Amino acid sequence: MSTPERTLPLHAPMSQFQVKNGELAVGGIPLSRLAARVGQTPFYACDRQLLTRRVAELRAAFPASLKLHFAMKANPMPAVVCHLAKLVDGIDVASGGELKVALDAGADPQAISFAGPGKRRSELEQAVAAGILINIESFREVAELAAISRETGCQARVAVRVNPDFELKSAGMKMGGGAKQFGVDAEQVPELLAEIGRSGLAFEGFHLFAGSQNLKPEAIVEAQNKSFDLALRLAQSAPSPVRFLNLGGGFGIPYFPGEKHLDLTAIGTNLALIVKRAARDLPEAEVVIELGRYLVGEAGIYVTRVVDRKISRGQTFLVTDGGLHHHLSASGNFGQVIRKNYPVAIGNRMTPAKRETVSVVGALCTPLDLLADRMELATAEPGDLVVIFQSGAYGLTASPQAFLGHPACLEVIV
Ligand SMILES: *Cc1c(COP(=O)(O)O)cnc(C)c1O
Repeated sequence: MSTPERTLPLHAPMSQFQVKNGELAVGGIPLSRLAARVGQTPFYACDRQLLTRRVAELRAAFPASLKLHFAMKANPMPAVVCHLAKLVDGIDVASGGELKVALDAGADPQAISFAGPGKRRSELEQAVAAGILINIESFREVAELAAISRETGCQARVAVRVNPDFELKSAGMKMGGGAKQFGVDAEQVPELLAEIGRSGLAFEGFHLFAGSQNLKPEAIVEAQNKSFDLALRLAQSAPSPVRFLNLGGGFGIPYFPGEKHLDLTAIGTNLALIVKRAARDLPEAEVVIELGRYLVGEAGIYVTRVVDRKISRGQTFLVTDGGLHHHLSASGNFGQVIRKNYPVAIGNRMTPAKRETVSVVGALCTPLDLLADRMELATAEPGDLVVIFQSGAYGLTASPQAFLGHPACLEVIV
């Protein structure tokens, strides 16, 4: 009798990067050469061509009139924002600091929008002066913006961020539905719209964002349809026609064993229907999708060098010069409930003769600093380069860099 084959869930193949002479290559440059060029480890490297290719894939899958925005909190590195600003239709910022980077990157202020639950007076003033679209998330913001508009003579451009009366099913991180600090509850929106009308702000439309890291096309389709229906209902209370309808995004990328790449086909087909309905029912509206992680996540890697190799009670550890202070999410401490391994490789040994099961840890004095837990990797020695894939989003700026006072990490785009 044959034993049934045990199929362990595997990481999705990380075939977006080339392998040259046994080394991973970023933008065509073999990793050890790139590390020399950067001048240090650890570093993040982002591949320009992969960003370009990703935008092209989205354009091909989506209706031509759909606008594509980059939610820059996923990767605010100025050179990345510069590159994407030329390819997408707009940039979504979440702070006054991000606004500055987006403007410096050359993004058209007309196509920059600003969302966030705690916009300070000074940030609202910056946004009005810049002439960008502000996604209003409270009654206080209406009053502040009315005062700023009066004082400066610049009319604030606003949209209403709606906290919908539904949730994005299967999202890694829910950001709408139920009680939330984001946006204004759908049932309070008619009153808010009346207030916007009375205050003389320039109303432009609605922003709905239900959640993040979703790998189920049918759940994304459902959220987009419900968001559109809700916007249509709320438009009846709007002080002027809807010109801007941001249906959010939330597209996920595969991080963990068993997860697969998102299939855009059904989402694209549905968006084509939505754009058609919008042309009929909200004829002045441009329909926008805003993506962060999906645009940048797969184009970036984190690279850290093996400093030590040790065996503790039969388990092999590769100790690196990086860690959770640079890459909190790979350590499992940025919102994950159960820790799982990101896809990891020894980047200068991509076609190894020998493999072994090891744990990769960082240099920090805490057991949380775990980058790979008992993974099968190429047999590695001090000096080798550990690569963590799917690291182009929520990497360095989402990590506690000052923790333990190690040297800074660098970021490059190749
Ligand atoms: C964070 C955020 C995004 C980006 O989410 P991703 O999952 O990275 O695509 C988009 N819109 C808003 C309002 C956000 O807060």
